[in-house]
Amino acid sequence: MSWLTDIARPEIANLKSYEHAAWEPQLERLHANELPWRALGDNSEAGLNRYPEPQPRELISRLASLYDVAPQSVLAGRGSDEMIDLLVRVYCRAGKDAVALCPPTFGMYSVSAHIQGAQVICVPLRADQGFSLDESALLDRCAAGVKLVFLCSPNNPTGNLLSEEAILHILARLAGRALLVIDEAYIEFARAPSLVRHIEPFPQLVILRTLSKAYGLAGARCGALLAHPEIVTLLRKVIPPYAIPQLTVEAALRLLQEPQLALVKDRIERLRAERDRVSEALRASPAATRVWPSDANFILVEFADPDLALAAAREARLLIRDVRKQPGLGQALRISIGTPEQNSRLLEALT
Ligand SMILES: *Cc1c(COP(=O)(O)O)cnc(C)c1O
Repeated sequence: MSWLTDIARPEIANLKSYEHAAWEPQLERLHANELPWRALGDNSEAGLNRYPEPQPRELISRLASLYDVAPQSVLAGRGSDEMIDLLVRVYCRAGKDAVALCPPTFGMYSVSAHIQGAQVICVPLRADQGFSLDESALLDRCAAGVKLVFLCSPNNPTGNLLSEEAILHILARLAGRALLVIDEAYIEFARAPSLVRHIEPFPQLVILRTLSKAYGLAGARCGALLAHPEIVTLLRKVIPPYAIPQLTVEAALRLLQEPQLALVKDRIERLRAERDRVSEALRASPAATRVWPSDANFILVEFADPDLALAAAREARLLIRDVRKQPGLGQALRISIGTPEQNSRLLEALT
């Protein structure tokens, strides 16, 4: 046990985990109070009458090779949302500890922190410098009590990558006292590698990945946390024993192989090309006052009249996201890149 466990909630560090029914697939199961027959119409491979394997070995090994880490460094769950919630519950004592985050950013970090009763410390990104990290302000605010720092790169909703150099500086300064969590939900769309290679030298680094975006499996609910095995072990004490539904496991295994993986690559390329086309068209239009560069599958656009833009999109039967309530985003809307036909319809409506 190292400081990675010492800074966790002591109740969790000392918790004896629930002992789930033994997983011994070579034997027949009369130990988990399951029904011996499948439901009518159950076409799953394993049978939905059976509890799924906790942290399924095959899925974990597939995710480990997909993300280029050791299997002991992978925790899989119902989307990265579940990983955010687990981190806050394991590391933050209600009323005592805090998380730091850099708005405008993904909303789940502060929601999970508030549910747990953790304090939320906000250090805004610098809008006047392309929404880059305010490294010195962040370090100044990361006093004792901050257990988790959440960063999102590429960031939602601004679309930009955060500087790897700044992240490495912050990482070095957090050693011994807090974890730095980098949410890479959109990294597949970026022209930059994942920061996962820094997990070995920096055990305080946690990376979140998801099958919801580039892999097109948002409905399956499958995400992964990549971290030092000691962190994975701690979080495993808290994640429900049968966290991942069998249908999700089977779908993920089926879709994480050729030819599906080649199609994923192909679609990422098409999506990037559409992102560039939509961005250029909006830049040429007087309706948009600013189109921020994006490394994700969406773009942040400031409009002269955002209400008019929202209404025009709706008139074309398209929803785009109003993000004006977030700090620094007074006139901005977030547009997810769709099919070429949807994008053209949207451009026609907006310009
Ligand atoms: C969409 C998104 C996720 C994905 O969440 P899942 O629970 O894996 O679907 C995570 N982080 C950010 C920043 C996102 O925008």
